[in-house]
Amino acid sequence: MPEYFSNAPVPPEHFVVEVFSEVSREVVQRRWREVNVVLRLSMLSGLDMEVEATLNMLCDFAAEIVPFEAALVYFWDDTEERPEARVARSLDHVTQEVFARGNVLNFWATKYGRPLLISPAHNPEADALLDKLRFESAIVVPLLVNNRVMGTLQLFSRSSSAFSEEDAQLLWMMALVSENLLTREYTNEGLIRFAFTDYLTGLKTRGYFEQQLDLEIKRSGRKKQHFALLMIDIDHFKQLNDRYGHHVGDQVLHDVAALLMRDMREVDTVARYGGEEFVIILPETAGAGAMKVADRLRRSVEQAKFFAGSPQVVEYLSISIGVAVFDSDAQFKRELIEAADAALYAAKSGGRNQAILFSALSREKREAS
Ligand code: GH3
Ligand code: MG
Ligand code: MG
Repeated sequence: MPEYFSNAPVPPEHFVVEVFSEVSREVVQRRWREVNVVLRLSMLSGLDMEVEATLNMLCDFAAEIVPFEAALVYFWDDTEERPEARVARSLDHVTQEVFARGNVLNFWATKYGRPLLISPAHNPEADALLDKLRFESAIVVPLLVNNRVMGTLQLFSRSSSAFSEEDAQLLWMMALVSENLLTREYTNEGLIRFAFTDYLTGLKTRGYFEQQLDLEIKRSGRKKQHFALLMIDIDHFKQLNDRYGHHVGDQVLHDVAALLMRDMREVDTVARYGGEEFVIILPETAGAGAMKVADRLRRSVEQAKFFAGSPQVVEYLSISIGVAVFDSDAQFKRELIEAADAALYAAKSGGRNQAILFSALSREKREAS
């Protein structure tokens, strides 16, 4: 931890600003110009605009509410299925890679669904980002569509106290008013896909997995082909949370998920099953093939360095994996999940950091499941 932290680093929820859907009389009197900006925007809400144009316009309106030196707007990209930088203003002094694919502020604002006021020397991750962009403070406002955070408006300043809670409140109202303009961009299909994306890891949700498993079982019956289910659980994850706190745990969880996704095929489904458990469906794959994939994943996690809050603190992790094959290990959905779970349980009790195939378990163990 850098020495300049006067106290322990604060978790990201300390940056969250509590906001309301109305402003007080006193704020309206003092900031009537800014309130008028929001009203002006509301008159445009029937317009049919491209999302880039809308996001650029939001930056213009935001500039009338609070002065800033640079702006970054992230919005969910339907085809890439991840948040992407759609507007970057006055950020020519840094390369695009620094901000192209979402950042930690977008991640936090998505998690808390509230504006954030970021000032330096409180949290190492926030500081690392401000350093990279070369600013001293930021204000972050979530952009919502159908009550889900689809992106963020991020404004930066070279002064460490440029933004106030009142600014956050006004920008929040501006963002709420702009929701209609942003909704237009989304087809139902895009929104459904977004609804099935886990915000913390970027993986598919449990609901998507359940649906996909039903489909795969039908497909497997038609094509007379096997498919495999991997059930993965991080070893001793509670210790990491206990040692570094839940927000560091969240970040590491995100990094483990990215590793699991990395080498998978387009047809494979990688989902977060719950907490620190993941599931992977491998179509057209039987036991031997699935064990190869499982061992590759196990090794890549074992070899990876995970940063616990800052690049100076490196942690190592391992995962245990249970593998079951449809329809040789099970003929029904629940039965298949239970088989993978039984194999995972065997991997845990066998010492962790290993992958076990359900059909390799002894008869007693299989029947106990
Ligand atoms: P093992 O699986 O090897 O038996 O040990 P474990 O410590 O991982 O055990 P267990 O599965 O019982 O505990 C899971 C822990 O994972 C509990 C909780 O602290 C943590 N966890 C679950 N979901 C989340 C999450 O969303 N974020 C964070 N930070 N931690 C989570
Ligand atoms: Mg667990
Ligand atoms: Mg665990």
